[in-house]
Amino acid sequence: MKVIKKSIIKESISPTDFNQLNLKFSCQDCSYYIHPEKLCCLGYKTEPHLLKNQMNLYNKCGQLIFCRFLEID
Ligand code: SF4
Repeated sequence: MKVIKKSIIKESISPTDFNQLNLKFSCQDCSYYIHPEKLCCLGYKTEPHLLKNQMNLYNKCGQLIFCRFLEID
């Protein structure tokens, strides 16, 4: 039996969309983010969604990782 590993889905975002739309994609935009500790109060892994890491990914390959639980007040 072949085991299929799940991985984080990265979405390609055009530079036009990135510059024109006010996208919210980082933990720092999210109501569940605990700023000083860099933690998610829902217990999810924040590292892939931290602004610095998202920008590094976008600058490298034009993709972002959207957390499905991101909440904006
Ligand atoms: S819900 Fe997602 S975006 Fe929000 S703090 Fe947790 S990991 Fe980050």
